[in-house]
Amino acid sequence: MKTLIVKTPLAKKLTAGVLLLFTFLVLGSATGITAAAERIADRIATKFVFYVRVAQLYSRAPDAKIAMPVQDVSTSQIANTWHAPRGNERLHQGQDIFAPQGTPVLSATDGYIANIGENTLGGQTVSVVGAGGRVYYYAHLDSYAPDIAEGDYVTKETVLGYVGTTGNAAGTPPHLHFGVYSPGGAVNPLPLLNDRPPPAKTETKTGTSLRTKTR
Ligand SMILES: [Zn+2]
Repeated sequence: MKTLIVKTPLAKKLTAGVLLLFTFLVLGSATGITAAAERIADRIATKFVFYVRVAQLYSRAPDAKIAMPVQDVSTSQIANTWHAPRGNERLHQGQDIFAPQGTPVLSATDGYIANIGENTLGGQTVSVVGAGGRVYYYAHLDSYAPDIAEGDYVTKETVLGYVGTTGNAAGTPPHLHFGVYSPGGAVNPLPLLNDRPPPAKTETKTGTSLRTKTR
């Protein structure tokens, strides 16, 4: 008889997930009540894939450069507030990027959405885990992008949400609080940020260049 010995908590979790997945699939097809069961099974499968992919991400070197997360803002517009005192006991562990309320917030990196949720300081927040296990934290969002979910793969083109004043930003000008956390602790996002290319202008190609190409 062959026995599968599982020791680590993560492996146990994964095994339990797979068993649940099969249970739902079998029950689902047997009873014919599949829609809800399949949805849950999908979620479990997604979670499983998420764990595997995050493990892969950890083995990669962290990004040397990341993209400006607020649309139509350049890095030169950011007033450096890294480690500025906040209250008596707290230092500012990130950068505030000001923009009109509702401005799209894009992921600064490729990665997976680890958390979408509300907390007292950050208000509505999204956390994305990227290469090297770095976590990118987007806070004070006015609202979330309608089509995002935990476990989703995101790229630098993915809209996560919109600039707002939720959490302790209430009463301040709308801004994104952007935090970067390496496994060793918070790091200053500012030196990592790259401007995005300006929006594409309308086609200005001349007839001459087109002719030379087609001949
Ligand atoms: Zn802040």
